[in-house]
Amino acid sequence: MKIVIASGNEDKISEIRDIFQDEDIEFKTTKDYPGCPEVVEDGNNLFENAFKKAKEISEYTGLPAISDDTGLEVDALDGRPGVYSARYAGENATYADNVEKLLKEMKGVKAENRTARFRTVCVFYNNGQSFKTEGIVEGRIITTCRGENGFGYDPVFYYEEEDKTFAEMSEKEKNMISHRGQAIKHLYQKLKNKNILKY
Ligand code: IMP
Repeated sequence: MKIVIASGNEDKISEIRDIFQDEDIEFKTTKDYPGCPEVVEDGNNLFENAFKKAKEISEYTGLPAISDDTGLEVDALDGRPGVYSARYAGENATYADNVEKLLKEMKGVKAENRTARFRTVCVFYNNGQSFKTEGIVEGRIITTCRGENGFGYDPVFYYEEEDKTFAEMSEKEKNMISHRGQAIKHLYQKLKNKNILKY
């Protein structure tokens, strides 16, 4: 069976490959299709974006597709940046710009009110049939960056159980607990239970 991953991000691709490793699946990515359309992520929520990516890439390639979309939801900011996490500080914002804006907006918020979560929605799409799963990890936004690993909001996302920010964890450590890891594992189980991986 062939499945296309609706992403060119090497870390996501290797995480998905790793979780599906017991299956006889040949994974393609958007990099294998140079003319592949750049899907505009203009949905109102993570599911709309993930669904749009999976559907468009599946229809373009003629293969079943897997996609994901992630957001950081901060309680003190009424769930922002959420679906706008990638472009929180503007259209061409860097990770550092987004973190800076987040810390600025949260200035003065007390430790106990700095709760937040990463949420990932994964979608599998094939011939009009689709499945959705979700992964969530709870944490807190600290006031200064800690750690050199990871990307995005990892340096300010503190995970209580390990007493570390996500940027202080190794990639393996983070993948074991992360929102994206959970969403992909749930998707794998769902597709297996529904016998989708068997043709
Ligand atoms: P995407 O849906 O994976 O493209 O993620 C959207 C945005 O959320 C990224 O640009 C990052 O800013 C942020 N993000 C996604 N996943 C993570 C993560 O695992 N750690 C930190 N930030 C993340």
